[in-house]
Amino acid sequence: MSQAVYIHGPMDARVAPFNLTEGRADEILLDVAAVGLCGSDLHYYKDGGIGAALIREPFVPGHEFGGYLTEDLDALELPRGTLVAVDPNKACGRCEWCHEGHPNLCPNVEFIGAPPFNGAMTSQLWVPRSQIVPLPAGFDPLQAVMLEPLGVAIHAVDLAKPRLLERVAVVGAGPIGLLLIEVLKAAGAGEILVAEPMPHRRAMAEKLGAAKAGSSVAEIVEWSSGGCTLVIEATNSPNGFRDAVSATRIGGRVVLVGIPDGDVYHLNAADVRRRGLKIKFARRMGEVYPRAIALVKSGKVDVASMVTHRIGLEETPGAFQALANNAPGYTKVLIYPNGG
Ligand SMILES: [Zn+2]
Ligand SMILES: [Zn+2]
Repeated sequence: MSQAVYIHGPMDARVAPFNLTEGRADEILLDVAAVGLCGSDLHYYKDGGIGAALIREPFVPGHEFGGYLTEDLDALELPRGTLVAVDPNKACGRCEWCHEGHPNLCPNVEFIGAPPFNGAMTSQLWVPRSQIVPLPAGFDPLQAVMLEPLGVAIHAVDLAKPRLLERVAVVGAGPIGLLLIEVLKAAGAGEILVAEPMPHRRAMAEKLGAAKAGSSVAEIVEWSSGGCTLVIEATNSPNGFRDAVSATRIGGRVVLVGIPDGDVYHLNAADVRRRGLKIKFARRMGEVYPRAIALVKSGKVDVASMVTHRIGLEETPGAFQALANNAPGYTKVLIYPNGG
């Protein structure tokens, strides 16, 4: 019987047998090749949910994944055994937001790996055929996984609309912040200034193209003589919004990508109001897979360097705990449920 990682509630993840039942007619069975441990999975672990999306029964997380087809997929002319990626966001296609081209905002979405829909931290998984994303020849499981978080970064940069050579601040250099740095570079932004408390993540930020990475936003304010015109926030802190505002120049723009611990922002109204800031919230992503694939294929973004840990299912509860405790040396964790 296959195994899975279950989150039972706050700070409680366990590996247990997974009872794989037959999928629906529109689904295909994948052998999971690799699955990423995302900041949102970590929120499910730390808080037992995100906002109203609460874990009511043991839940299998994992929405960033690639897998091998266990049968031919005729519609895409892909033979059994082919490595594919999966877009976890199955929107309804009928609501006003789907019709306006915002499937990421669909209120009827079935999102693989968000409660109550079990995700990919397991050895086999049924997924809708419509969500299969074919990959160019030569892609590996790590690249298949990283397309999803890369897509989140692309969507955020789409919202941010950096001007050519504009100096940009990125607050938080976890996996999403690091991908933001790379996508901003590819989009023609100028100097990228980063605030990140963990030293190994600051070093990675500079390796991936940041001009300077400091431990707090105070350094960004100093380096930019009063803040940047564009700031993108990608932290898990209730203070992330406040810090992003502090790093923003009067009249500037802020894009918020991070999900704060405890589902609250700590913020002084006057700091935002008096600056007259323009604020956007990034929610998951739209139709970004073709560009994510092109960026990886061309080598314009490096998605491998930030992967610090490659583990099996059995080690996953320990990785959740380490990430929740901000253990040094951790950035992106990838799980290989069938061995790697
Ligand atoms: Zn994610
Ligand atoms: Zn919809």
